[in-house]
Amino acid sequence: KAKSEGRNRTSFFSDELEQQIIYRHQLELLLRDTLANRQLQVYYQPKLCLKTGKLLGAEALARMQNQQGQWVSPLEFIPLAEETGLIVELGLQVLRQACQECLSWQQLGYQVPVSVNIAAAQFADPQLVQQIKDLLAELQISAQLLELEVTESALMLDVSKTQSMLSQLRASGIRTSIDDFGTGYSSLSYLKKFQVDVLKIDKSFVQEMLTDRGDMEIVKAVISLAQSMNLQLIAEGIENEAQKDMLIKLGCEVGQGYLFSKPLSAANFRTYVCQ
Ligand code: C2E
Ligand code: MG
Ligand code: MG
Ligand code: MG
Repeated sequence: KAKSEGRNRTSFFSDELEQQIIYRHQLELLLRDTLANRQLQVYYQPKLCLKTGKLLGAEALARMQNQQGQWVSPLEFIPLAEETGLIVELGLQVLRQACQECLSWQQLGYQVPVSVNIAAAQFADPQLVQQIKDLLAELQISAQLLELEVTESALMLDVSKTQSMLSQLRASGIRTSIDDFGTGYSSLSYLKKFQVDVLKIDKSFVQEMLTDRGDMEIVKAVISLAQSMNLQLIAEGIENEAQKDMLIKLGCEVGQGYLFSKPLSAANFRTYVCQ
């Protein structure tokens, strides 16, 4: 039968699948090169007080270009980095760049806390806390200026490890937030055991809350949960005034989103900080 299929006779895969495999392979090579050559970029998205517009912090977000100078979405290269284990190196490079940049804001006269996304594999690494402490000591940055964003699923992988990790971070003065809160499946009883500082309301809820009752109820529930557990709150993905006004009305006072600013290059963020 294979012979009658002409040019496909030696191929195990359909053309489309073959293209996907080639693309994935190229992306992995690009990611390896980018990390080896220290070409990963970090962008910064402002976090603001929704009522006053005051700058309260910045989220560091990894950015990568291909050889043609086109941006590759983090939604593509982050999962690939996670699958290949490259996320540990990627995460360390982002941490270092973000802390260096935070130091440069400080040198310009601004204390702007920076938050860095930490993948599950990094969070599971017992060396992480010491590595971060060493980095802060080397750059002479206060731990209060660093926040780690961890997803619910990363926290839930190994609950007792997570507890020890979170208490070490707390003891070091490094703040932690649960990213994309509400999209995972963590049980509320764990939230009580986990010593985190901030809940981040996922952008999917923020974006639909004015059109979808269910999403509105989730936003309300997360806000009251944070209030009753004495956690800080931040809403991500705020794109319009109506969403901002509703969040303020519901009691969420901090946010980030395209309404205020897209993630900015390090140079553009410095300009933003100083204006
Ligand atoms: P995240 O940590 O939840 O980051 C928020 C994402 O929402 C960012 O996407 C940001 O650009 C985007 N965003 C911000 N405001 C708005 C808005 O108003 N509307 C919309 N539609 N989107 C908005 P980005 O930069 O593409 O990153 C996607 C995800 O990739 C991040 O989600 C995070 O999970 C992951 N990621 C990015 N950088 C890193 C990193 O350095 N390490 C790790 N482990 N993950 C990273
Ligand atoms: Mg995040
Ligand atoms: Mg998020
Ligand atoms: Mg997200």
